[in-house]
Amino acid sequence: MKVLVIGGGGREHALVWKIAQSPLVSKVYCAPGNPGIGLIAENVSLAVDDLDGLAAFATEQSIDLTVVGPELPLSLGIVDRFEEKGLLIFGARRNAAIIEASKAFSKDLMKKYQVPTAAYDVFTEVEPAVAFIDRVGVPIVVKADGLAAGKGVIIAHTREEAVGAVMDMLSGNAFGDAGSRVVIEEFLTGEEASFLAFTDGKNIIPLASAQDHKAVFDGDTGPNTGGMGAYSPAPVVTPAIHDKVMAEVMRRTVDGMAAEGRPYRGVLYAGLMINGDQVKTLEFNARFGDPECQPLLMRMKSDIVPVLLAVARGDLSGIELEWHDMAAVCVVMASGGYPADYRKGDEIRGLEDAARMEDLFVFHAGTSRKNGRIVTSGGRVLGVTALGATVGEAIDRAYRGVAAISWDGVHYRKDIGAKALTR
Ligand code: ATP
Repeated sequence: MKVLVIGGGGREHALVWKIAQSPLVSKVYCAPGNPGIGLIAENVSLAVDDLDGLAAFATEQSIDLTVVGPELPLSLGIVDRFEEKGLLIFGARRNAAIIEASKAFSKDLMKKYQVPTAAYDVFTEVEPAVAFIDRVGVPIVVKADGLAAGKGVIIAHTREEAVGAVMDMLSGNAFGDAGSRVVIEEFLTGEEASFLAFTDGKNIIPLASAQDHKAVFDGDTGPNTGGMGAYSPAPVVTPAIHDKVMAEVMRRTVDGMAAEGRPYRGVLYAGLMINGDQVKTLEFNARFGDPECQPLLMRMKSDIVPVLLAVARGDLSGIELEWHDMAAVCVVMASGGYPADYRKGDEIRGLEDAARMEDLFVFHAGTSRKNGRIVTSGGRVLGVTALGATVGEAIDRAYRGVAAISWDGVHYRKDIGAKALTR
């Protein structure tokens, strides 16, 4: 069969890498893809939001299954568009992808269906928002309602910061329409984890646990990024926590979405805050996490294609997922300056040396090809991902890969996975 993957980051490189290993698959396309993806699949120069172009391509090429990576095309309704044309596609429909696209929607859903989450309220006017901030006190968290690429969340430690964030968002200066409504919520403490599951709207199959590292610098300091590294399994997700998340977060959310007339089909990602035996849901995403997808797919033993097909067809019954016992760690190598302004176009050296290393794979994110060379073209450039018998071994292997690769101004965290070692 022929598969089309939509997207061009590390997540999509991992998806293409895993899908291409399936004996069911004869050809993989990726739109727009990247130079790393181009080594194992055919890149197609169509943008992720070109829904008409993508649907026309899938029809012309008789694509058997399309897999959507990023949130933007999901929130634009790519799944609905493909289904109207009788094309099989993996991803959440527009009316379900709203679980990520609107934080106000997802918080209200959680409240209605008793999914544990931080206390909150939703505001469109400054005055009541400020009154709420004064009542709850600081620290407090201010979030733009819509998609803001992980940057629409302000953890305010002073009243001024909180009020400033509200005014910036509601005035439309920050995040445009995405900030025309704000969610203000209680500040939670604990350790974060990412919990992903495949669902057909009824059956739920969890993936292995994972943990992301959002802050740009070691020790979780500096501004938040799209994610500086991840590992799996995450020991903070004990068997007891796993069962609790399945029952109180995943089951209630999937059933709640069905009850709302928004059946959820695809991969559901819950960002969790875990404190002792307490679990609260920070957010939902309607797609695989990036970078979590990279270590998760390296650990996945089962062929992913039958699972993706079953979700797309709407019946996961009888499907099981097997995992390698090994741990996996992904270290993101980023351009210096990211997540603020950064340079592009620096030549990346050492990719061939890293490619020869065992149990290690370098997933491309922000790379492009210039005069036959691979150069940096994004904030997050590479995801160096390794397997090991333990998290410690996977960390050592991943950093040996990182040490082989360089470019001017490269930045990466030195402590990816360190939290797992302290448990
Ligand atoms: P992304 O797109 O990167 O997944 P997002 O913009 O959808 O992020 P959230 O996941 O809601 O936003 O928040 C981003 C980060 O802010 C969280 O990972 C967490 O570190 C922090 N955060 C969010 N809500 C809270 C909270 N209530 N208490 C403490 N920290 C929080």
